[in-house]
Amino acid sequence: IMTSSHTFQPLLHRIAAEIESMPGRGRPADYIPALAACDPHRFGMAVAELDGTVYGVGDWRQPFSTQSISKVFTLALDLAREGDTLWEHVGREPSGNPFNSLVQLEYENGIPRNPFINAGALVVTDRLHTQSGNAAGTLLEFLRAESDNAELAINKGVAASESAHGDRNAALGHFMASYGNIGNPVPVLLDQYFRQCSIEASCADLALATGFLARHGIRADGTRLLTQSQAKQVNAIMLTCGTYDAAGDFAYRVGLPGKSGVGGGIIAVVPGRCTLCVWGPGLDERGNSVAGVAALDRFTTLTGLSVF
Ligand code: GLU
Repeated sequence: IMTSSHTFQPLLHRIAAEIESMPGRGRPADYIPALAACDPHRFGMAVAELDGTVYGVGDWRQPFSTQSISKVFTLALDLAREGDTLWEHVGREPSGNPFNSLVQLEYENGIPRNPFINAGALVVTDRLHTQSGNAAGTLLEFLRAESDNAELAINKGVAASESAHGDRNAALGHFMASYGNIGNPVPVLLDQYFRQCSIEASCADLALATGFLARHGIRADGTRLLTQSQAKQVNAIMLTCGTYDAAGDFAYRVGLPGKSGVGGGIIAVVPGRCTLCVWGPGLDERGNSVAGVAALDRFTTLTGLSVF
């Protein structure tokens, strides 16, 4: 068991070496060309301590497409603004269906199951946009501040590509709007959502930006974003809903609140201790990074750091 902080660096090297020799890395997401072009053998991993000390290995400073990882931050930013009213518009149960599924929405009167499937994330972005006047801009500003990296940016080419292939998300938006669960014009919402998903950041940036969830709601500058309960709630939703329809298997293998994105990144939280971000663009059939899940599995196994 290695839990003292100065052991993180050798531990990361050991995990990277194991990942290096791993057969089969899955396949990059292929719904847009920019993601399909990623090399599945890239791999990076970063661990950030509560004080902002960050350790990394491999491609840990390489920016990648955050995609659905962004949904954790929009959820936190909206909860911080409107509190529990959000839960009148989106549920908190795992879906068991793929991230872009339409089927449950009709049975549940346009109220999506949770904030991390696409339908739920669209509701959160819609509400944050109403609260802040600029959902994607508010998110970008937050990520820049928490990672102390003013260079973080939206990849406009990826956003345009998301939009060009965005029929499913448009359908979700319009369907929920028909139930009165979307406040902004759907095209405005979609534009915000595609920009949000197209923010690029590295493992180091995202491990740091996730820190408030390990610090029970406290931001990098010491101010409070969420109450202790809200931070617990976001972590709980990550644990139960954060890795598409494989959240049960992720909890079993990794034992941490985590959120993946189809860009191949995964963030994870050890409350009160540290945060992690891994990146490997090859995905399994449910959309989670093959190398990323394996690396987090090794991290919690070797350190004993897990919420269980
Ligand atoms: N932009 C992607 C979509 O909405 C995000 C998918 C994901 O990372 O799960 O289809």
